[in-house]
Order: sequence, then structure tokens, then C-alpha cells
Amino acid sequence: MPTTTRTSIEDARDRIDDIDRQLIELLGERYAIVDEICETKTANGETVKDPNREEELLERIASIAEENDLSPEFAERLYQDVLSHSVARQKRQREEGAVTSVPAHTTTCVSGEGNCSSNGRDLPSPSSSAQPVPPPNEKAAERGYHRVARTDRDRDTVVSVGDALLGQGGPVLIAGPCSVESREQILRSAEAVAHAGGHLLRGGCFKPRTSPYSFQGLGEEGLDLMVKAGRRFGLPIITEVLAPGDVEAVAARADVLQIGSRNMQNYPLLKEVGRSNRPAMLKRGMMASVEEWLSAAEYIVTHGNPNVILCERGIKTFESATRYTLDLTSVPVIKERSHLPVLVDPSHAAGTRRWVPSLVEAALGVGADGVMVEAHPNPEEAMSDGAQSLTLDTLSEIGNLFAPRSA
Ligand code: PEP
Ligand code: MN
Repeated sequence: MPTTTRTSIEDARDRIDDIDRQLIELLGERYAIVDEICETKTANGETVKDPNREEELLERIASIAEENDLSPEFAERLYQDVLSHSVARQKRQREEGAVTSVPAHTTTCVSGEGNCSSNGRDLPSPSSSAQPVPPPNEKAAERGYHRVARTDRDRDTVVSVGDALLGQGGPVLIAGPCSVESREQILRSAEAVAHAGGHLLRGGCFKPRTSPYSFQGLGEEGLDLMVKAGRRFGLPIITEVLAPGDVEAVAARADVLQIGSRNMQNYPLLKEVGRSNRPAMLKRGMMASVEEWLSAAEYIVTHGNPNVILCERGIKTFESATRYTLDLTSVPVIKERSHLPVLVDPSHAAGTRRWVPSLVEAALGVGADGVMVEAHPNPEEAMSDGAQSLTLDTLSEIGNLFAPRSA
């Protein structure tokens, strides 16, 4: 029998495995304490709203990270996930002990540990009648949002997806076909996105088509093809989710959940995406004001998901030369009013591929954190939005405008 000697890499990996075990065990301990806090507050019938708790905790974590030669941004992102999970856990805890009658004034946990409602176990899940914690002052209440507002959080939200940081550093490029159509089509698209230096692969599997007779997408099968194409070329994937009931299944496979323009004010969907721990990209409703858009983002955040990316995609105006009117002004307006990252989708606005490259430059010029464009190996044959889809050659030219992907 040949004898095998252990290499130094194998030894080092054993040490890493050991550390990983300890990290997960410690997290288990941490969440057990969170459960205790939630139970105590519930039993006491106390209101435990502490809006500063999460902010303080993240600041402390960032400074501990620095002391340990780690990036504070990395530690904060990690902890945003830890906190989101805390919220989801508390909601489950409440639901398990829920009774049916709920006074109208009750509030739910929105973030941070121990923020159970005044009525704790009496609360149903936020999908029914419970209200998120109200804004701190009248002005914020009038505005309809405060957690996504600049005033509520000075630092920008940075959403980490794969090796891309949305909202920090250079702009990101998200590209791919309007719809996933076949294995070959999505593989060729993914290859082109990766070669162009794109950060994420887009592709619709569940399509919100204006006409019920238009191609509705390949559904689960399309998602399978997309997951494989993304993996093959090292790209995280973003795809649209149409219905609250699909969120869990789509979130299990996609790296970012897209909420389309037609669903920007679909409140049950916003709430369900809020309960997910996947980042969400909220496209602007084609007839929504900036304020309505930010209020829609507030739904997602107040239901537990802080990782929201906004995407301007054009609005309806009297102008008929383009498919929609690309409101690039919304980018600096959003930057002033909110800490969330904002992207621009010039493809759906222009409706015509030859106008897309200059609109990409314009979007970056007004300070967008990135763009999302449609591209197809053979736009003339595309099953949806071919006229606005870039050729893969043009996509590769556009790639030069973006921050390189890290190795
Ligand atoms: C899309 O990006 O696939 C899409 C359907 O866009 P919108 O929701 O902006 O129309
Ligand atoms: Mn499209």
C-alpha cells in the first residue's frame, strides 16, 4: 500500500476547518442569547424599539475589525447578514407563539436584536396587519420613508455581491439577455459578460410581459440554466421575481432578486423580499415619483432586508421617440435623499440599441453606481427586447468603462 504524507496545505486547511467550526458554534451561542432577549421582552410586554442599536453595533464591529487588520467594510457587510438573520429568527419565534387578535397599534421588529414589539408574541407576521415601527418624527412620516433616507444613516449602504461592491468603489456592470432562452444562449451571453469585465449576469426567467401572449420565460428551467452559466464563468446572477410565493425558491438560487418596474408597488412582494436575506434590486416604477420609489424601498428595508439597490429604468412621459424617458436626474436626487446604491438601466428606457452606449456613459457621468444593460448573442432573434439588446461586441466595448473585477 502506498503511504501518503500530509502536505502543509492540508494541515493549514485542517486548521481553517477547525476555525470555521468554532465560528459557527459561536454564532449558535449568539443567536441563543438573541432568543432569550426576545423572550424576556415579550414576557414583560415591553416596547424595545432601539433604533440606534444596529448602528452602534456595526460601528463597534468595524473598529474591532480594524484592530484585527481586517477591512471594516467587510466586517460590516458580514454583520448586516448576521443582523438580518436575527430579525428573521425573531419573526419566526413570534409566529410560532402567535395568537389571532392584534391591536391596531402594535409594531413589529424591524432591525437589530431584541427589538420585539410591545406585544411580542401577539404579533402575526408582517404579511398581515402588523405595521413596521413608525418613523421618528412627523416630517419623516409625511415623507413615507426614513430608514432609506440620508438623514437616518450618514454612511452609504454598500451591497456586496460576489466580488462586486455596489455603492462603493468603481461602477459595476450587470449585463445579459432580457430573457433566458436556451442553454447555448445563456452560456454565450455569460461568457461575453465575463470577458467584458461585467460583475453580474442578468437574465429573466419569470417574465412580466405586457401582453399575456408574449413569451413568459422558461421559469425554473431557465433559472437552472442561468445558475450553471453563472457558475461556469464566475458571475453572480440577478433575476426577476414576480410573485411573493416565488421569493424563497428564487432566493435559493439567485444572488440578487430583481423587482421589476411593474411590481414596484406590489406590497406583498416587497414585504416578502424584505424577509429574504438576498440583496434586492428595486427598479423604478415607470409611473412612480422618486418619493414613491424610496417609500417602496422602505418596505423592503423595514421588513428586514437592508441590502437594497435602486435601478432607474425610465418613466412614461409624452415623449414617444424613445420607449421611456430615461430620468437621469433621479440619480443625483436619490444620492442626496438616500444612502442606497443606485444603478441605471438604459436599455429599457431607450428601447433601441444604438442609443444605449452613450446613455451608459451619461449614467456614469451623473454618478450612478453602475448600469444594467441587455445583451444577446443574436439580438435579431431574441424572444424579448431584441431591438434594445446590445450585440456581444458592443458589450465588450462598454466593458472598458467599468472597474475591473478582482481576480
Ligand atoms: C427587466 O429588466 O427584465 C425588465 C423587465 O425591466 P423593467 O421591469 O424595468 O421593465
Ligand atoms: Mn427586457
